[in-house]
Amino acid sequence: MLKFEIEKTIGLARVGTIYTPHGKIKTPAFVGAATRATVKALTMQEMKGIGAQAILANTYHLILAPGDDLIEKAGGLSEFCSWRGPTFTDSGGFQIFSLPDVKISENGVKFKSHISGAKFEMTPESSMQSQWKIGADIHMAFDQLAKSDKYEDMKEAMERTHRWLDRCVTEHQKLSLGAGPDRTPFLRGAVRPARRHGRPAAYTSACQPPDHLQKRCFGHPHLEQYLYAIVQGGDFLDLRAESAKYCASKPVDGFGIGGVFTAEGMDKMLQTVCPILPENKPRHLLGMGQEPIDLFMGAENGCDTFDCVGPTRMARNGSLYTLNGRINIKNARFKHDFTPLMPECDCECCKNYNKAYLHHLFKTDEITGKVLASIHNEHFVINVVDNIRKSLIDDTFKEYKKDFLTRYYSNI
Ligand SMILES: [Zn+2]
Repeated sequence: MLKFEIEKTIGLARVGTIYTPHGKIKTPAFVGAATRATVKALTMQEMKGIGAQAILANTYHLILAPGDDLIEKAGGLSEFCSWRGPTFTDSGGFQIFSLPDVKISENGVKFKSHISGAKFEMTPESSMQSQWKIGADIHMAFDQLAKSDKYEDMKEAMERTHRWLDRCVTEHQKLSLGAGPDRTPFLRGAVRPARRHGRPAAYTSACQPPDHLQKRCFGHPHLEQYLYAIVQGGDFLDLRAESAKYCASKPVDGFGIGGVFTAEGMDKMLQTVCPILPENKPRHLLGMGQEPIDLFMGAENGCDTFDCVGPTRMARNGSLYTLNGRINIKNARFKHDFTPLMPECDCECCKNYNKAYLHHLFKTDEITGKVLASIHNEHFVINVVDNIRKSLIDDTFKEYKKDFLTRYYSNI
């Protein structure tokens, strides 16, 4: 089981630590969305520099390019992209179901690559196998996205997701025991002697390895790997409760709270789901965090980690966070503004550059503008969640939330 220590609870909120073979995640934490094994416009060293603790890649995108076999050969996701820290993979379900021309059956889904047009099939078993090869610490079960937001469609998707979860659990256990194709059998929790790529045997205990062994974990794609179930049900609270109960009854290591839901319905949805889920397992809120209020709401209602492509996507469009709300740096009013983007921020962008320079870079479409903007936006959301964690520890969460949100949203 994935080791998760809770240091403090305040209502539904918790402060804790997730221990993975590639390091710890102090929670609540914002996880960088590294969809194609890269957080767009940022190097992994920059991600470390701005305080990221973990990244989340997407199985669908990685099997299309460069392929799960290649990542396995490279030594796993962490080694491939040079991220020295904990890793997650989303199953790819959400992205596949967003594609046109997807054929769904009980067995799985057939779809065409949006890159080459080549035909692919993904099943719960193949998603687990691909995630195993990619070698992230934490995997998401393969889930079906509902065809619409109608109750019947949400229920159908949830029920199939549950049936697929059972298959994911079986396949994950098979892979964990080394019973998968072309794998050397090994026991969970033991030092694994297998040397598929001629690399040193890795420490495979669920606990944090000692420092002298930790460096040996990198470059080995098959350390202990963990599975999260996905709670579905859209905005329908009865479906959410049913899904949470089902997922809670399964031998999984944690939970992804996913599917489609509205920001307005999120607090009630989380207040329904989180009390049903076992307290001693971590919860990841999938794809949320573009709006700072979602991070406060998520943490307050019992979520431990979050990921979202929004902050870097907005950055590339020149939409930048400040404590007084988001600004568009391309706006003419910044042409002669020689002040830092956000004086209170200690990121490389704010410490070294001013708004007039950023405005110039965006107006002339220079890549550096997108890089600096991404550094700032990603740092901003990571920092907000880190401050939420601190405020929960200090019993100042309510004040921090009120002060932050009042200032942030008062100008919008
Ligand atoms: Zn900054």
